[in-house]
Amino acid sequence: MAKNPETEHPVKAFGYAARDTSGFLSPFKFSRRATGERDVQFKVLYCGICHSDLHMLKNEWGFTQYPIVPGHEIVGVVTEVGHKVEKVKVGDKVGVGCLVGSCRQCEQCSNNLENYCPKQILTYGVPYTDGTITYGGYSNIMVADEHFIIRWPESLPLDKGAPLLCAGITTYSPLRYFGLDKPGVRVGVAGLGGLGHVAVKFAKAFGAKVTVISTSDGKKEEAIKHLGVDEFLVSRDPHQMQAAAGTLDGIIDTISANHPLVPLLSLLKPHGKVILVGAPEKPLELPAFPLIAGRKTVVGSAIGGLKETQEMIDFAAKHNIMPDVELIPIDYVNTAMERLVKAEVKYRFVIEIENPS
Ligand SMILES: [Zn+2]
Ligand SMILES: [Zn+2]
Repeated sequence: MAKNPETEHPVKAFGYAARDTSGFLSPFKFSRRATGERDVQFKVLYCGICHSDLHMLKNEWGFTQYPIVPGHEIVGVVTEVGHKVEKVKVGDKVGVGCLVGSCRQCEQCSNNLENYCPKQILTYGVPYTDGTITYGGYSNIMVADEHFIIRWPESLPLDKGAPLLCAGITTYSPLRYFGLDKPGVRVGVAGLGGLGHVAVKFAKAFGAKVTVISTSDGKKEEAIKHLGVDEFLVSRDPHQMQAAAGTLDGIIDTISANHPLVPLLSLLKPHGKVILVGAPEKPLELPAFPLIAGRKTVVGSAIGGLKETQEMIDFAAKHNIMPDVELIPIDYVNTAMERLVKAEVKYRFVIEIENPS
């Protein structure tokens, strides 16, 4: 594993990497493997910036290996396919999300839940089956096994659609799994950022009535006018929270900072669920009584399997669901990270990867 990233594989690649816990990203030469018989190689055109990229860059979850090239909302055009590839051909538009590998044999994999496979391989920052470290989409070229390639619908723009590969599936999957995908269901979305605004769009497309729960009313007008949110609650206003108590069937909790769960639990009807998709660094406080009193659930959910991710992308194309994005050049990425920390983006940065060589 002491191999040089620039020479360990035959295909020259270029990206932006962080070398230490400062998380500062700078130009990085590395290499990609030769296209295997079931591999798809593609030219990366756009890559979304996910909040987890930020956590990983700074080793906030404690397992980052440097140098790290982040990025798991990757879209582009196929440049080469192995001879056994059936899913796509050269010239097709494709995407890769959070996963590039799994065991393909376990119970979870057999049920199209690669996202819960204990041997899943993340798109960046972990060892691949050949022992080399995976590098993500802040780079000009990508290669992945065709099983982990998403076919991109013609009608879905690559730039705006890219964040669906993480933010989209992370919210779509729990809405579906927990039955919050039906007309008239009352869905709460806690936190209106990259994940939250996509959760709103999917929930609205399913016909749900959507309540956004935010710490301030700064995004209220935009949420109601632009995103079509039905109700907007300021979590710090006890009167508003009291008035809305017991009204929601489920809440997609996208907040990645530490925050109290009890106010969210109080908004649920009996049997309601708070579904955690954000990942705060510290443990959340979970008192028993608010759960017991209404047989309520606090549960987590992680992205989705490959079959469901394709279904989500096709659904988004059909219903014209696109994240709101701000396109940036790759040399703006450090500034983008600073703005992301301060939540100064509506709602997702997408890097335009243009020939960074
Ligand atoms: Zn992500
Ligand atoms: Zn598996």
